[in-house]
Amino acid sequence: MGGVSRGMISGKTGLLALVGQPVGHSLSPAMHNAAFVADGLDFVYICLDVDPDDLPAAVRGLEALKLRGFNVTMPHKRAMIPLVDELDEEARISGAVNTVVIEDSGLRGFNTDGGGMVMACQEAGIELSGKSALVFGAGGTAAAVAVAFGNAGVAELHIANRSVERAAQLRDELHGTGMAGLVVHHLDAVPDAEIVVNATPLGMKEDDPMPVPAGYVREGRVFCDVVYRPGTQTPLVRLARQRTVPVVAGDRMLLYQGVLAQMLWTGREPNIKAMDSAIS
Ligand code: NAP
Repeated sequence: MGGVSRGMISGKTGLLALVGQPVGHSLSPAMHNAAFVADGLDFVYICLDVDPDDLPAAVRGLEALKLRGFNVTMPHKRAMIPLVDELDEEARISGAVNTVVIEDSGLRGFNTDGGGMVMACQEAGIELSGKSALVFGAGGTAAAVAVAFGNAGVAELHIANRSVERAAQLRDELHGTGMAGLVVHHLDAVPDAEIVVNATPLGMKEDDPMPVPAGYVREGRVFCDVVYRPGTQTPLVRLARQRTVPVVAGDRMLLYQGVLAQMLWTGREPNIKAMDSAIS
């Protein structure tokens, strides 16, 4: 067992990393290293700032250096797709990889973002099975959430996106998975739904417009926001809490996508409490 648990790095310490640009603000090292210390696992997680043009060379380097795996963040999630040897369903449909496991046989690409949101809903006691959901956005995160919601038993899924063409493209991709009840809406025609997900970046800045009309945030619905802003709430989360409408904030999704990534690397459930404390 581990050097890291004693605050030391040994010759056997396994290396994990976040590859992105920028990465300096990331909460992931604090979150993962906290669990490695709590669990006595001999791993260390670092951040690597990689230019987009250097991604293929960087990935070959990580493989040559025999890392156990790595996370991928903006702007590389999409560009990782052709660089892995295997893709899970969520990564394939979303066109975005956020977690890579390095095996002797090659690189396995996963997307744990959608599963992270499902676990965050479970933590909040929100039942997804049999429910109707409306996802705002049709990018990589929206697709990952849609696939994971489908796998969690959501009965009816609506996608609303600024660009209708992109929403229609995602609908077609999702139909291929056999998920029922998919409707694509333009933002002007927002349907009713029990669970509403913001999967756009709206809310990252305080003066962003709300992803949904304010009047839409009311009792009888549950809201999920993928956006997280360290140290503060997004306007959507704040409004929902003011109105005592149930809401799952993006930092819970961040926590659980990390939990799922760590399970892929170590094969065991990490100390979630330690990870949570590290980012709270
Ligand atoms: P993406 O692939 O670029 O997709 C962005 C989506 O948002 C697109 O559907 C886009 O619509 C829509 N959009 C962007 N700006 C908009 C605006 N001003 N008004 C209306 N719609 C707008 O991005 P992504 O990778 O899915 O990431 C989305 C967000 O998820 C980011 O903020 C990211 O930080 C967050 N995220 C959080 C976690 C977590 O753990 N909490 C994990 C992953 C991602 P068009 O198609 O019309 O351009």
